[in-house]
Amino acid sequence: MDIDDFKRSLILREQDLTEQISRLNGEARESNSAEVEDPADEAASDEGKATALEESTRLSATLKQVQDALTRIEDGSYGRCIDCGREIEAARLSAVPWTPYCLADQEQHDRRDAQAMGSTL
Ligand SMILES: [Zn+2]
Repeated sequence: MDIDDFKRSLILREQDLTEQISRLNGEARESNSAEVEDPADEAASDEGKATALEESTRLSATLKQVQDALTRIEDGSYGRCIDCGREIEAARLSAVPWTPYCLADQEQHDRRDAQAMGSTL
């Protein structure tokens, strides 16, 4: 495993996400301040704003993971699952270089998230 390759792709990803988030936040602000007189337009504008904010929140969560991964590269713990400490599968790291979990633990977290979401319904 070549850490430098992962580091380069994580840094690119970080820049990309940061740009996308600031663009989405700008969109959310714009549609907020736009003067809308037609109620239908207003509804569409609100919807666009909500979507932009939702997308921005989702990208921010990924950005956090990317930054955490860069921190783990610096402290030498990159490539190991933060839950069980085992090495994360190489194929998995290639696909999602910022993942903090091995596949088994990721599945557990996904299940827990799904349950948490279900319980709020
Ligand atoms: Zn694990």
